[in-house]
Amino acid sequence: NAKQEGGNCYRFYDSAQDGANASKLNIENDLRKALDKGEFIIHYQPKVDLCSGEITGLEALVRWQHPERGLVPPLEFIPVAEETGLIVPLGKWVLEEACRQMKQWHERGYAKLGIAVNFSSRQFRDKNMVSHVARTLQLSGLDPECLEIELTESIMQNVKESLVILSELKQLGVHISIDDFGTGYSSLSYLKHLPIDTLKVDKSFVDDIALSPKDEAIIRTIVDMGNHLQLNIVAEGVENKQQAQALMACRCKIGQGYYFSKPLPHNEVELLFRNVYLNSDE
Ligand code: C2E
Ligand code: MG
Ligand code: MG
Ligand code: MG
Repeated sequence: NAKQEGGNCYRFYDSAQDGANASKLNIENDLRKALDKGEFIIHYQPKVDLCSGEITGLEALVRWQHPERGLVPPLEFIPVAEETGLIVPLGKWVLEEACRQMKQWHERGYAKLGIAVNFSSRQFRDKNMVSHVARTLQLSGLDPECLEIELTESIMQNVKESLVILSELKQLGVHISIDDFGTGYSSLSYLKHLPIDTLKVDKSFVDDIALSPKDEAIIRTIVDMGNHLQLNIVAEGVENKQQAQALMACRCKIGQGYYFSKPLPHNEVELLFRNVYLNSDE
């Protein structure tokens, strides 16, 4: 994963010198300082209409632009941020920045796309979370319909509590997605009770969809279930044309993955937008 990001990525968990605890402490200190120094950046990955190729939305994915280590991918620091609670202030920053950026793109006249932001379950359960989301929408001026919050099935460990929080979020008008769907060991019964809009089918089912009848059957079944329950289905991790075609054959409408675009810095997203407009103007 670190290699795919390009650049000189640093692997925190490789350092055998000072042991896991000491290095965790270092990361914690580093993370705290990085937040103060503004070293985090967001890359945006398009979600794409599989038939038309049109961009239907963007997902915000945080990176740490470390002065010496280069671009550090989230799996290298999000777990520590979760353990230490720093995910709460970091997550607030990501939400604020993503909403601000999306609103700016709307104001510049680009398509009125939605922005998806990942929340870990610790962020989700933070007692000030809903009011922070409300405040962020208000301050940024972003239409609540254009904000999508991505959660994993881990929040289903407490369905009652999650129902209360999700209902409050839905009242704000935001969309709710379940990320990495199908990998979380949770029962499907939560789909009956919770106000969920979208299921993002985990990459592990997409990987072999063009080769494996079993994976194909699973995706087909999730798409059918989604249609019956009025849920949108997004396929994650689409890397080639064969997968995209197999997904369309399963009547899956939306995909996301390197085949369409890697996560991009904001200026490259703008180039993408401009190209779309230039091409369609001619
Ligand atoms: P995720 O939300 O499931 O995001 C999808 C991950 O798969 C991203 O990795 C993305 O770059 C990668 N990906 C997308 N398309 C492809 C593909 O075609 N092939 C392959 N091999 N990978 C693909 P990334 O950006 O490294 O993020 C990893 C995870 O870190 C995310 O998984 C999410 O759980 C977490 N994360 C990222 N940003 C945030 C954040 O701001 N807050 C929180 N709480 N978690 C975040
Ligand atoms: Mg996600
Ligand atoms: Mg995912
Ligand atoms: Mg994931």
